[in-house]
Amino acid sequence: MSSSASPDVATVGFLGLGAMGAPMAAHLAAARRTLVWNRTTSVAEAHAAAHGSREVPLEGIAEADVLVSCLSRTVDVVDVARRLAADLRPGTVWVDCTSGDPEPSRVLAARLAEHGVTYLDAPVSGGTNGAEAGTLTVMVGGDADTLERVRPVIDAFAGRVVHVGPIGAGHAVKAVNNTLLAANLWAAGEGLVALASAGVPAATALEVINASSGRSFASEVLIPERVVTRQFPVTFTLGLLAKDVGIARGVLDAAGSPAPVLRQVAELLAVAVRELGPEVDHTAALQLVERWAGTEIR
Ligand code: NDP
Repeated sequence: MSSSASPDVATVGFLGLGAMGAPMAAHLAAARRTLVWNRTTSVAEAHAAAHGSREVPLEGIAEADVLVSCLSRTVDVVDVARRLAADLRPGTVWVDCTSGDPEPSRVLAARLAEHGVTYLDAPVSGGTNGAEAGTLTVMVGGDADTLERVRPVIDAFAGRVVHVGPIGAGHAVKAVNNTLLAANLWAAGEGLVALASAGVPAATALEVINASSGRSFASEVLIPERVVTRQFPVTFTLGLLAKDVGIARGVLDAAGSPAPVLRQVAELLAVAVRELGPEVDHTAALQLVERWAGTEIR
């Protein structure tokens, strides 16, 4: 959803024009002056040419009133923030849309606060389709008043914005959400290969399951569109999903929660990354389930 510029946010700076960041920054550029930086500069130059954003060197991004980052991992955000530290301006708000790690993000927030910069963790859900449509769900941790100040910025790429708690809470919700995605995907895959061996084609099994209580986003969308078609299009890599599930394990540890099912999902995804590599689509994890069962989901 696009929104009109709010008076105290004249310029936005976007860091990280990947599969998610590029369309998010395009929505921002349609609404207000938007500076863009990407580690691979040619990507930012192409974004500027296509969407009317302005490509800047890293230090140039500090001119913005609100910084939005969407990098792979928290360690990448910490590294970029360290390189940018000398140029940061007091009063800046840093909205981190990376699916990140709560504890190092709290440390980063404290470091940024020394420069007068307020950090919000604001990971997103909805995939590349949601980013392109500007309908992402954004789960925000940090100061609620600061969120209200920058909400018009976030609204440019969001369909829903939920304040979920203090700094790190957004990352924690995202990690648990994606662990549920992984659990549903893997469990549906195990069920479907067993049904295929029992003589039930995937399309028939899914017709029943998706009208019944065993359905999930995996059974309704991911498996029919990506697995049954054998296309496995790479929009969200297995490596990034495994990263999220690993972060969730830290959340479980911090809570002192046994959570045997969710921990098992983390183990399985780690095996899948070892066997298939991190760059395949996350749904390709079911190729491992198929290999173990000796049956394809078709
Ligand atoms: P991509 O791999 O497509 O893009 C990653 C971006 O991060 C690129 O701009 C890349 O720059 C940059 N980057 C990576 N490492 C560094 C570094 N060390 N320093 C500076 N920049 C770096 O990932 P996505 O866009 O898919 O994902 C981004 C975030 O959003 C992740 O945290 C992911 O988990 C999350 N996410 C992804 C979804 C999806 O469907 N894809 C859905 C929801 C959340 P360069 O171009 O130079 O490589």
